[in-house]
Amino acid sequence: MKKAHTIYEQGSHRWVMIARDPTKKGYLIDTNEYLISSDDDNLLTDPGGSEIFPAVFSALATITDPMKINRLFASHQDPDIISSLALWLDCTPQLRCYISRLWSTFVPHFGGDDHSLVPVPDQGMTLPLGSREVHLIPAHYLHSSGNLHLYDPDARILFTGDVGAAMLPEGEDALYVTNFDQHIRYAEGFHRRWMGSAEAKHDWCERAAKLSIDMLCPQHGAIYQGADVMRFINWFAELPVGLSTFRGAR
Ligand code: FE
Repeated sequence: MKKAHTIYEQGSHRWVMIARDPTKKGYLIDTNEYLISSDDDNLLTDPGGSEIFPAVFSALATITDPMKINRLFASHQDPDIISSLALWLDCTPQLRCYISRLWSTFVPHFGGDDHSLVPVPDQGMTLPLGSREVHLIPAHYLHSSGNLHLYDPDARILFTGDVGAAMLPEGEDALYVTNFDQHIRYAEGFHRRWMGSAEAKHDWCERAAKLSIDMLCPQHGAIYQGADVMRFINWFAELPVGLSTFRGAR
């Protein structure tokens, strides 16, 4: 079963990471889900695939009532990100899911409709969350053509979907990066292969470097915190990506 880990808490404003399922089948890529709450507003980022829905739901139930989750955020359209949408809607039909406008007519092929799916414009948007607000910011072509990240300026947390993702070997299950140089080896092949545009990458690195970020939270792997946040942005800025570089990478 996955476990719930509180990574930020200030009054009713909190972030909880749902992660690390030792019973997960080996053929499924491991994923992190994050619950962001403020007052009675509860948003779940990249809620995951239908296969892991029961594990995410029961981990959430240890800390809150999962039926009170009223918003989902999908960084992009992949099955490990949002194929659980129909199951979440069965629990909470009034739920809204924020996703790039590019995917809002594709994703309903596995759940949702024009009420539940809120198309986010290319330039992103600000989303009120309880007494706070979060920003859905563009990360297009990293890796999906319509790709968004979520920035919480009060918690100083940037949720980055597949950017920063690492394919950790069995046994490496720390929630936070402790040794950057060692950790980044598990991220390199993935970023070389999946991040197809050097131009998009440079644009994102410039914008991310200007944000105040205490924690950079990817959908796979461990959280970068403190100095490791800038270390990651600088590493990514230098990394060759795209068609000519992927041979030999995963
Ligand atoms: Fe993806």
